[in-house]
Amino acid sequence: MAKRSATARKNTRLRPRKGGDAIRYTARMPRVNVDRHRVRRGTEVRLGRIDTKQDGGLSEEDGKKRLPVLTERLAELQELMYAEGKHALLIVLQAMDAAGKDSTIRHVFGPVNPQGCRVASFKVPTSLERRHDFLWRVHRAVPPLGSFGIFNRSHYEDVLVVRVKKLASPRVWKARFDHINAFERLLTDNGVAILKFYLHISKGYQKRRFERRLERPDKRWKFNVGDLEDRARWGAYRTAYEEVFRRCSTTHAPWYVVPAERRWYRNLVVAQAAVNALEKLKMRTPKPDFDPASIRID
Ligand code: ADP
Repeated sequence: MAKRSATARKNTRLRPRKGGDAIRYTARMPRVNVDRHRVRRGTEVRLGRIDTKQDGGLSEEDGKKRLPVLTERLAELQELMYAEGKHALLIVLQAMDAAGKDSTIRHVFGPVNPQGCRVASFKVPTSLERRHDFLWRVHRAVPPLGSFGIFNRSHYEDVLVVRVKKLASPRVWKARFDHINAFERLLTDNGVAILKFYLHISKGYQKRRFERRLERPDKRWKFNVGDLEDRARWGAYRTAYEEVFRRCSTTHAPWYVVPAERRWYRNLVVAQAAVNALEKLKMRTPKPDFDPASIRID
């Protein structure tokens, strides 16, 4: 039998386990163009001009076939990251209510080894958290080298909800953009790759999602009357998000505005951006500090 090349062996290993899919991960596989959704440093974003229903020119069928290939690759990269121990991946997810943060986490990071991936959700600060600086609780939740961390909401709430609901004075929240950039620089200097995703939906889409939550008895628990208060401040949130993108999308910690109404496309963009960022790290399995040939196992 002809000897198979190293690439062919690798491709077989990366084949999705389920579904008998024809697509396999290869380094040359056509990639979803996620760069078009990345906010260039210092650019003005007008959310109202960005189509929330984009699909990257892919069909839903094709998109759904690609996801397991990418998530399997993500799981493999996560294992490599653990073995190497020099990097971590931090995913920041922000969105208006019902845009699908939880579902993105489930679909994209569900297949990753749970031992190497931690999700931190940031809610209204507790009384103890309020007695510290705004980054205190966040810094403690940063993934240690060798693992993935997902922020379901994040330190950006401190320049979003805090600004919109006037929970702090402008002098306080305005100073935070610089604090955030310095903090994220500290993390990336320490080996943490940071990717920040805003799941972009329209007000009409949110209305439909809320209505669905009310209609379906099994979804009603997700409806929160308080979410309507944020919905009523849609424009103010938009302004606040636009300033976040302009001030805090950096080369080392970029923001992506992800069109999120086609959920399969939203998942693909997040998965592809994560795979791209991890592959750029050029991680290597560590060489053993012993000679395997010299070991005898009785
Ligand atoms: P989610 O909407 O993320 O599923 P919750 O319904 O529990 O989760 O909402 C969490 C709430 O906590 C959000 O309304 C969010 O704006 C709020 N929150 C998060 N961080 C802060 C903060 N730093 N200051 C004030 N409110 C915050």
